[in-house]
Amino acid sequence: MLIEIPANVNSAIEALLDAGFDAYAVGGAVRDCLDGRHANDWDIATSALAQQTKEVFAGKRVIDTGIKHGTVTVIINGEPIEITTFRIDAGYSDNRHPDSVEFTKDICLDLSRRDFTVNAMAYNHRDGLVDIFSSQEDLKNKIIRCVGDPDTRFNEDALRIIRALRFASVLGFSVEENTAKSIRKNRLLLRNVAIERITKELCRLICGTNAAKITSEFKEVFTCIVPEFESGINGQAPVILSRCKPCAEHALAALLLDVPDAAPEVLRRLRLSNKFIALCGTLIKYGKTDLSALSKSEFRKLAGILSEEYFSELLSFQKAVFPSFDENLFSEAKKIFENGECVSISGLAINGKNVSDSTGAKGVQVGEILSLLLDCVLSEEIPNTTEALTEKAKALYKEKNHD
Ligand code: ATP
Ligand code: MG
Repeated sequence: MLIEIPANVNSAIEALLDAGFDAYAVGGAVRDCLDGRHANDWDIATSALAQQTKEVFAGKRVIDTGIKHGTVTVIINGEPIEITTFRIDAGYSDNRHPDSVEFTKDICLDLSRRDFTVNAMAYNHRDGLVDIFSSQEDLKNKIIRCVGDPDTRFNEDALRIIRALRFASVLGFSVEENTAKSIRKNRLLLRNVAIERITKELCRLICGTNAAKITSEFKEVFTCIVPEFESGINGQAPVILSRCKPCAEHALAALLLDVPDAAPEVLRRLRLSNKFIALCGTLIKYGKTDLSALSKSEFRKLAGILSEEYFSELLSFQKAVFPSFDENLFSEAKKIFENGECVSISGLAINGKNVSDSTGAKGVQVGEILSLLLDCVLSEEIPNTTEALTEKAKALYKEKNHD
């Protein structure tokens, strides 16, 4: 059989089977294995109730991960393994959460509540593959198809709309016709879903191999989440997405590159972290700056403003934006940082106190002088030495106080 279950996961399944319960590997891991991909997260589904699962693993550490939904985590040889009771999700009045969760002994009912056919298979070594929705067929044809009626399923949980597109993008699959129609028809339901959950799916989606195709094909879904995506998707974003590295900061910058003024507010609206916003915001702000047209001094100044990490991220982003990007800029930037060249005030061979002591300048004036000194060093008008800088500081102070 094609499915190799990792030893710890399999021993958990065997323990449940030995105790007389049903137990299977389910969901993404089964899908990825059959598709020849490496499976990361192995989820187990069982007919045992959470309390019964705990009894089966009485000698082990067990964590109540989501006992209300029937999920516990068992630690086997140091590895956490999630085990969830077969369940039916009943009634979704808010397009988000099931009103109640009902447990069942029937794996087929558990598979029926799952989102897409390729995610709705179960496997164990005793029974082999449980495939009741022709999932293998869809997997072979690379198709994302809802389990059951798409309108019903998207109304139950609107997050599935963006999940469908995420799987299509990441796996490089297409969306089955009725599922695609229903996604477009029901897209406004996404407004009922917490933005954090949408953002999480969106960030994975835009890093997928099929991101360019999916964002174009389902433009109306994306503009429903973020209206500001419109000009990017109509413009260069798809091309940049197909060329940029699979990193959410870069991909989102591609989508917002045409709207730099609106971007900071959009990133906050998506509830992204400050760290994410700092990098992505930088890529958007300077993404279209023609670095080859900058003077040596301006180039160094920007390197100083952005710091080594962000500057090299910007170069790699620009490589995706401009087909004619000048590769030499990478080595120029590398040289600046490797040689520890002075590109910011903190790199000057003089500090605020030195300026104040040698010139008598105070407060804001000290900062102004330091900034002018940096410009002189960047343009190589003077060397970055204490003597030269002190002389220049005195001259600058004199000039200023004669104005
Ligand atoms: P990956 O781990 O690569 O994201 P996955 O398929 O494991 O892929 P998860 O989000 O971890 O995705 O969900 C695990 C499984 O739970 C899915 O395969 C699916 O069967 C089911 N599932 C998750 N979210 C939903 C949902 N909103 N509606 C229905 N079923 C879902
Ligand atoms: Mg998973």
